[in-house]
Amino acid sequence: MSFTKEDYFRLFPSCIAVKGYSRSLIIDTDERKLFYIGNSHYNLIQELETNSVLEIISIKSNDEGFIFLNYLLRNNLGQIIKKENLDNFLPIDSNINIPFTSNSIIDVDNYNFSLLKLSIEKLSLAKISNIQFRFLNDISFSQLKKIIQLIESFSFYTVEFLFSSTLYSMMSKENISYLENNQLITKIFVFNSNYERIQRNSKFLFLSKVLNDYNLCGHTSVKYFSSFLETVINSKKYNSCLNCKISIDKEGQVKNCPSMKESYGNIKDVSLIDVLNMTSFQKFNKITKDNINVCLDCEYRYVCSDCRAYTDNPTDIYSRPSKCNYNPYICKWKNEEGYKTLEECGVISNKDAFSIDFDKIVSINKLLWEEETENA
Ligand code: SF4
Ligand code: SF4
Repeated sequence: MSFTKEDYFRLFPSCIAVKGYSRSLIIDTDERKLFYIGNSHYNLIQELETNSVLEIISIKSNDEGFIFLNYLLRNNLGQIIKKENLDNFLPIDSNINIPFTSNSIIDVDNYNFSLLKLSIEKLSLAKISNIQFRFLNDISFSQLKKIIQLIESFSFYTVEFLFSSTLYSMMSKENISYLENNQLITKIFVFNSNYERIQRNSKFLFLSKVLNDYNLCGHTSVKYFSSFLETVINSKKYNSCLNCKISIDKEGQVKNCPSMKESYGNIKDVSLIDVLNMTSFQKFNKITKDNINVCLDCEYRYVCSDCRAYTDNPTDIYSRPSKCNYNPYICKWKNEEGYKTLEECGVISNKDAFSIDFDKIVSINKLLWEEETENA
């Protein structure tokens, strides 16, 4: 491939580069794929914003720039543009407002249809589009069907269910196909399953986790990341879990999330529209991962949901999600060989301080990644 001094490179607007402490990521929001790149390559992409391809290639030794450019083009992450056409190539404006669809969670412990009906009516009045029902105790299929029939009389967009495998094991083929074919239901998480399973072309996701308050959500894993363009853009501006979310816990208390302590009143007594407008209720809306200790250094920060219910330090609103199993300073997940805790890497993140021992991280990474390259 040869270039002229008129050739420039641009990532496609749907491909978003994110720099982390130790490596960077390109999120391909069209293909919903993640591409890992070095931070020097992230810098190269920035340099390509203002320099022609030829200029960049000529200043990089060992054809590094050329090889990387080929990698980007081969993976369909960007394109070569003539200088005269640069003005026509508009990147996605991260200041545009992509409206978040509004979400809600209803926790159900002891099945109480009249309380559920009241909650659903009030959510509909507040123009909430999506509901997730989390059944903490066993319910029967007929109770579930009664709830579905009720929701169908409103204009919600999507519904998700979380329940235990006990209900699934009691369902007939007809029951399962009723749920599979219902347009409103988008996902069904079956907890307490014997093994983890995702079925192709099915709404059912089987999880081996025990169904309890703590296990229901907030876990961090590549399989839970969301690389939709809407999520990535909104995550840069708003909290990726709690913005536009309202919840009703198993006691009927209205909260940001059912697992949080603070209540804004009981669903029997309050208007959800009033709660949504309270300044205190909105306090999490604009906390992004760029504000959260440790996450602000993580390359996954715009694809990862930000749990505020379970954090390292509950008294610090900017504390890292405590269920996170990733160390962005060494790019290792807890179950991977060579993993070290933040503390072992010299990263202090507690109620008094957030500090990083830069030299220690350099030496750990050197040891870790040089060893891995040698063993590869
Ligand atoms: S704040 Fe955490 S526990 Fe609450 S809904 Fe979000 S991820 Fe789940
Ligand atoms: S460090 Fe933060 S952004 Fe990164 S994976 Fe963990 S919770 Fe998500």
